Amino acid sequence: MLKTDVRYLKGIGPARGRQLSRLGIETIFDLLLHVPRGYHDRRIITPIRSLVPGEEINVSGTVVSSGYLRSRNGKTRLESIIRDNTGELKLTFFHFRYIADRLKPGTRIIASGRIDYFGGISIVHPELIFLDEERSDTRLVLPLYPLTAGITQGIIRKLIETVLDEYVSEVPEVLPPDVLNSMGFQNRSEVIRKVHFPDDPEEGSRARRTLALEEFFVYQSLLSYVRNRATKRTGMKIIPPEGTLAEFVCGLPYSLTGAQQKVLEAIAADLRRDVPMRRLLQGDVGSGKTVVAAAACILCCRSGYQAVMVAPTEVLASQHYRTVSGMLESAGIRCGLLTGGIKASDRRNLLESLLDGSLGVLIGTHAVFEERVVIPEMGLCIIDEQHKFGVEQREKLLSKREPSPHFMLMSATPIPRTLAMTIYGDLDISVLDEMPPGRGSTTTRVMNRDSRTKVYEFLLDRLGSGERAYIIYPLREASEELDLKDAATSFEILKRGPLGKFGVGLLTGAMKPEEKLEVTGKFVSGEISILVSTTVVEVGLDVPEATVMVVTHAERFGLSQLHQLRGRIGRGGNNSWCFLMKGEECGAEGARRLAILNSTDDGFRIAERDLQLRGPGEVAGTRQHGVPAFRIASLIDDLDLLEKAADMAARSDLWKSLTDEYKLRFRGLDILEL
Ligand code: ADP
Ligand code: MG
Repeated sequence: MLKTDVRYLKGIGPARGRQLSRLGIETIFDLLLHVPRGYHDRRIITPIRSLVPGEEINVSGTVVSSGYLRSRNGKTRLESIIRDNTGELKLTFFHFRYIADRLKPGTRIIASGRIDYFGGISIVHPELIFLDEERSDTRLVLPLYPLTAGITQGIIRKLIETVLDEYVSEVPEVLPPDVLNSMGFQNRSEVIRKVHFPDDPEEGSRARRTLALEEFFVYQSLLSYVRNRATKRTGMKIIPPEGTLAEFVCGLPYSLTGAQQKVLEAIAADLRRDVPMRRLLQGDVGSGKTVVAAAACILCCRSGYQAVMVAPTEVLASQHYRTVSGMLESAGIRCGLLTGGIKASDRRNLLESLLDGSLGVLIGTHAVFEERVVIPEMGLCIIDEQHKFGVEQREKLLSKREPSPHFMLMSATPIPRTLAMTIYGDLDISVLDEMPPGRGSTTTRVMNRDSRTKVYEFLLDRLGSGERAYIIYPLREASEELDLKDAATSFEILKRGPLGKFGVGLLTGAMKPEEKLEVTGKFVSGEISILVSTTVVEVGLDVPEATVMVVTHAERFGLSQLHQLRGRIGRGGNNSWCFLMKGEECGAEGARRLAILNSTDDGFRIAERDLQLRGPGEVAGTRQHGVPAFRIASLIDDLDLLEKAADMAARSDLWKSLTDEYKLRFRGLDILEL
């Protein structure tokens, strides 16, 4: 019954159905969980003397007089004067058929509404409670719902009241009874009743918190189910010959950081087990994830299996190919690069050497997941910087294969731990929390528009001493073309100006893959020293000679996004500079936000600020990471509940009984079907 479409309810036609669906309400269940955004407490009475126009208030008083007035346009209105012991107030009604008789002098009422001017201070069409005829069903605390055009508080209250009466007893229990009790409730239907019609606002918000906990709990339970199911799959024991790792490390031009060593040990231990690894490797930009991935590949190949490494773009895939093959081919392991743009004959060769086992590591873009790419001995799959790789995509990839390959996701997007729990709750998390030594420092400066010439002079100076620079333009989804024009125009201007002699290139998302490869190739080799671009350089590009970054309209970027961009510089031994240029629209608020980047280079702290300031969807691509759309719980205000829910979910095995609940709530997500 809970799945029933609201349009089958009495009194809801197609038009109302459309209005409700704008609020995300399709089913009876949705209506039950359309929780108020707050409550109007009619027990809080304002003395008439202290009324302020514009405020929503309640006054309690006695009717002094009521009378009809005719306005100039011929319409009649009813005006009643009420009095409390501080003064008098006028109530105005244009529709009064049902009310006129009840507003006789001497009647005691509570009138609620907004204080307006209407021929003097007045409430127009107040909501009324008649104190002398008070019935037990008169509600003193009213829910205030999120609304949409065509739906008033009155309409939605009535609807919810009706479905509560008829259906709330049907909702199955979700939270364990002791948890409900600790929140002060007996059962779930009581919680749902009270969230809509509490005795006081405190009870209402306690009910809302309980429902938020419930929502987190359902999601976390399903994640722990996915996790458990994965551990039941058969994996491959990857047991390389003694000394493989030590030999690899010896061959590197640097020694590993402590963090890299620790993470590698954890990975090696995972690979030895016959349970498939599911791990997230988080490490700030420049923390050295690639070498960790390469080491994991060598462990895999030395044990007779093949490894796959996937990057989101062709530019990054070929960069990985250069780096990883540089480290592995000397050890006799063949690497291949597979992208959408490769020649048919090369592809054929590659596929053949995959099949006959002579190719050890396949590096590429999503092209590696095509049907025709058969990797007979795939023991390890590593995915780098892939934002659109949520829990569903992971399951799609991993549940198909038997035995199931070991899996590692790498991300430079630092996200707060709690957020990571919802996005990566099915994975073990390792963090590279130590930067390789020998890096120059990066100085960040927030600049006004009128310091542009100073910045350009500085650029000239650095480029003159052989360093390289990025100039970044924002990219707004809404007006992509306009922004591209910004970058392209600036590219043309720079090319002709004094910076032109250093070589200027343009890299935008709209370019063809081979064009992108060409221009980044030139920047890597130093043929050009300035790369004008958009956020496409945000992730992964590793050019140690780049020391200056100029970000225009910096206020349009998220903090985490700027932090990611800034990570493109300061990767060599030289000191680096990041100039955040404020645009015209940058207000004081924007400037304060940017100053945060000035004060810290800890990606996790920046992400946490971003989360507070802009919400979970905005934290550097977490929207694409697959944060589910929670309808009640807030990833900002209810984060404490998330930890509690994850804890409860890990200890209970309720997920089986929650599958229906899950489908009712998270439409479009089908982890269960995989
Ligand atoms: P990210 O984690 O952002 O992917 P990379 O793997 O691209 O970082 O590494 C950034 C740079 O640091 C590379 O140029 C790499 O060669 C270098 N690097 C990695 N590990 C170390 C280390 N232990 N010591 C010195 N340099 C290192
Ligand atoms: Mg990287």
